Amino acid sequence: MKEALVLNASYQPIRIIDWQKALILWFQGKVEILEFHDIEVHSPSQSFALPAVLRFKKFFRPYYAFGVKFSRRNIFLRDRFTCQYCCKIFAEKKLTLDHVIPLSRGGAHNWTNVVTACSKCNNKKGSMSLKEANLRLLKKPIQPKFLNQSEIPGMRSHLPENWIHYLNLKVE
Ligand SMILES: [Zn+2]
Repeated sequence: MKEALVLNASYQPIRIIDWQKALILWFQGKVEILEFHDIEVHSPSQSFALPAVLRFKKFFRPYYAFGVKFSRRNIFLRDRFTCQYCCKIFAEKKLTLDHVIPLSRGGAHNWTNVVTACSKCNNKKGSMSLKEANLRLLKKPIQPKFLNQSEIPGMRSHLPENWIHYLNLKVE
């Protein structure tokens, strides 16, 4: 886990970024670092502890300034590590991404067509449509406006310890 959780100036969690991007934001003076990982990276002359939690100095309206990045992990987060077909929660390594309308049938690779599925359900569905596979989605996939995972049971084991506090803050 070398990613950083990014908070708005108001402490609202807004996205997860990789460590390179986190260091760039910090070098640019746009963020303050609230927590570090126990991992260092080395350049020829310096070493840096990797940021775990960053806070923007300036307030952005998340709706306009950011979308949540479309990534495997963020889809799992949106779907709460729950297979959208059998409705069970799985460890990240047992989860896969499923295209609701298969790519082979012109389905898009985006937030509204990609869902979390366990490998069993993914295999069962194969390249069939929902109707053909006789499967239903737990919920309609949408593009999340920001990450707010504070009320998710079982999330703790998936996230770095030093993120938890910030995800649980009540932000107006
Ligand atoms: Zn499943």
